[in-house]
Formats: sequence, C-alpha cells, structure tokens
Amino acid sequence: MSPQSAMNRSPMADGVKRRVAILGSTGSIGTTALRVLARHRDRFSIVALTAFSNTALLREQARDTSPVFVGIVSPNGTDVPNDWRIGPDALVESATRDDVDIVLNAIVGAAGLDATLAALEAGKRVALANKETLVVAGALAAAACERSGGEIIPVDSEHSAILQCLGRRNRRDVRRLVITASGGPFRTWSAGQIAGATLADALQHPTWSMGRKITVDSATLANKALEVIEAHFLFGIPYDQIEVVVHPQSIVHSMVEFVDGSVLAQMGVPSMELPVLYALTHPERVADAGVPRFDPVAASPLTFEPVRLADFPALRLGLEAGRASGAAPAVFNAANEQAVALFLEERMTFSQIGESIAAALDTLGGAPAHDKAALLAADAAARTLVLERV
Ligand code: NDP
Ligand code: MG
Repeated sequence: MSPQSAMNRSPMADGVKRRVAILGSTGSIGTTALRVLARHRDRFSIVALTAFSNTALLREQARDTSPVFVGIVSPNGTDVPNDWRIGPDALVESATRDDVDIVLNAIVGAAGLDATLAALEAGKRVALANKETLVVAGALAAAACERSGGEIIPVDSEHSAILQCLGRRNRRDVRRLVITASGGPFRTWSAGQIAGATLADALQHPTWSMGRKITVDSATLANKALEVIEAHFLFGIPYDQIEVVVHPQSIVHSMVEFVDGSVLAQMGVPSMELPVLYALTHPERVADAGVPRFDPVAASPLTFEPVRLADFPALRLGLEAGRASGAAPAVFNAANEQAVALFLEERMTFSQIGESIAAALDTLGGAPAHDKAALLAADAAARTLVLERV
C-alpha cells in the first residue's frame, strides 16, 4: 500500500508545503508529530487537528499551530471554542478536506478505521500509526488505495524499517520479513510471574514511552501480532514469510531477508520522531529528525532471542487470527481492545486478557467478513462477549 506512485508525490520535490491533518493530536504519537513538525515549518503546514476528549491540550495545540480546522469527538469540559467541530464526524471531516495532503492517523484503536478509509478514498497519503485500521480491515484499505490512488505510509517503527529496507526492490526478491520485538517488561519473567503481573508492572515498558493501550499490548505481545497482520497487508507478504524475533535493545527496528540470503536491517536509537518524519517525507529524507546520533559502540551489544509463544498467548492467538483471515483479525483486535480497557480500569487481570481473546475467537472467529458492516458487527460482538465475561 505504498505504491510506486508515492515516488512521484514526494513532499519535497516541488518546494510546495504539504498540508497535514493530525488525527489524535493529543496522544503520544500526536504530540511527537507536533514536535517534529515544529522543526519543519518550511516543508509542512498544519491544517487540521482532532482529538477525542482532551480539550485543554487541544486548545493549547491550536493556539500554537493555528490550524484551519479543529475537531473534538467528546470534549472534556464545556469551554470548547465556538468554531471547533464537535462529535465523531470531526475525524472523517478533517481527513477528507480538500486542503489536506497528508493525514497522520494517530488515533488509538478501531475508532480510527473510518477516517483512514475515508482519507484513502479521497486519495490522500495516510501516515498511519493507527495499526488497528489494517488489522480490522486491511483488505478494505488496500481496495480503497487501489480505487482512489491513496497510499499508506507506516509510522510504526518496525514497518517504517521494512519500508526503508525494501526501497524500490522487487517484492519477489523478498524471502522473509523479520519483525523485532523488545519483549516488553515481562521478557525475562516466568509464566507464573507473568500470571501475577499488575497494571503498574505492565505499564513499565523497558525501551519505549507510549500511550497506555499500546504499552499494555507490548506487555502481552498482542502488539507484535497486530504488527505482523499490519505488515501482511502493508507489504503484501504471506504470513509464513513474516517472523518475530525478540531484540531487547530496540535498536534494530526490523529486517528484510532477500532470496539470495542477504539481510538488510534498519537501525537507530528508539525514538518515534524519525518514523513519524519519514512517513511524511518518504521516499526522501530531510536533515534534523531530532534523533540522537547513533553510536554503535554505545549501543553494543545487540542481542536476539526467540519469542516465547507459549507464555504470551495474546501473540499466539493474534498470529493464528491473521492466518485464519476473514473476521478473525477484527475479532482479535476488538477483544484485545476491550480486555485492555478493562485491565486499565483494574477490572480484569493480566491473564484474563489472553483468555478473553481466546473466548472471542472461539465464538466469533468465523463470523461473516464480506464488508465493513460485517467486520464492525464482528468487532461489536467481540467487545460484548468480553464485557459479559467479567
Ligand atoms: P495515545 O493513547 O497516547 O493517544 C491516542 C489518541 O487518540 C489521543 O489523541 C486520543 O484523544 C485519541 N483517541 C482516543 N480514543 C479515541 C476515539 N474513540 N476516537 C477518536 N480518537 C480517539 O495513543 P498512542 O499515541 O500511543 O497510539 C496511537 C496509535 O499509534 C495506536 O494505534 C498505537 O498502536 C500506534 N503506535 C503508537 C506508538 C507510540 O510510540 N505511542 C508506536 C507505534 C504505533 P484524547 O487524548 O483527546 O482523548
Ligand atoms: Mg511498533
């Protein structure tokens, strides 16, 4: 979904500023993007900002960047400026505006799906952090790109790495994608210890500082399953050619092995600033990504370990759901989102996240998946099933 046409639409080729809409500007990726864009005002202008609830931060961001459009889904507090758009339509509206070239989708969860699909249908570049979009409806996103000339450039660091390793090379030359995983906070914990993990334990990510949902996904390793499915749809690579390896230092962001045995890896210090910037500038590079210089000696040693599938059921179930295809990835994602929300409210234990996903896939994995309505029905049913179990 990052077709050759992307090469012709370089943000830098003509010196014209590219106009950006940020969906989910108040989150971890959204605020990172605003930091990155502040350093590149000569290349990009911020046309639209949207958030879910954080009125105070959105107000501050709007004051600093003067966008044409500000939208909020469900404002926290009543002091919302008159000219803001309020309600769920704000997302699609900002993503499809004529004066927007690039939509950075930094919304968390399946809530970002409609905005991604609408932006692609409108022929936009979507800089996609919202991986759940591709897990719920990867085939629909691909079809939208095909129909309308939209393109997805990944923000996820692993997929940004793979895109950079692939370059213009022929997909037929790829033998395997190797997606790296930090292993999360429980990499060295026994199965028994993991079963007793608390919310505070799960929120201690060793290498990345991120939103709460993806931090929990990184502890269960559900995040890696989401990323394998994301890679499958982004790059059109079959599941049996995508592997996960644990790399605790998070320096090698992923690798591509080619048919002759050559392996390319993309490396750098763990920071989302570079993948965010690269999603905006691809296929070109610009100076000053705000990332500290890489020092190989200081980064040493780099180590790799097999992933412990038996001890991280959410990863195993997600990989199975990807291979099962149909509604299974959407069910996996929805059950995980609901279970993580309950875990974050301390209404569910860490182990119950995997158990909830398993129960949802058992019951609903084979649900109809012929169109968006069917996928959303499977998503809703999975959330209900998880809620009814607690
Ligand atoms: P955060 O929780 O920090 O931010 C989420 C953003 O989405 C906020 O702006 C929030 O608004 C908004 N939001 C929340 N719920 C809804 C909803 N129902 N409808 C519309 N908007 C909503 O998440 P992250 O920034 O960590 O992650 C965003 C996405 O990027 C996720 O898909 C994640 O997997 C992916 N990603 C994140 C990485 C990271 O480093 N953080 C790395 C790679 C991928 P508000 O704050 O106003 O409520
Ligand atoms: Mg990632």
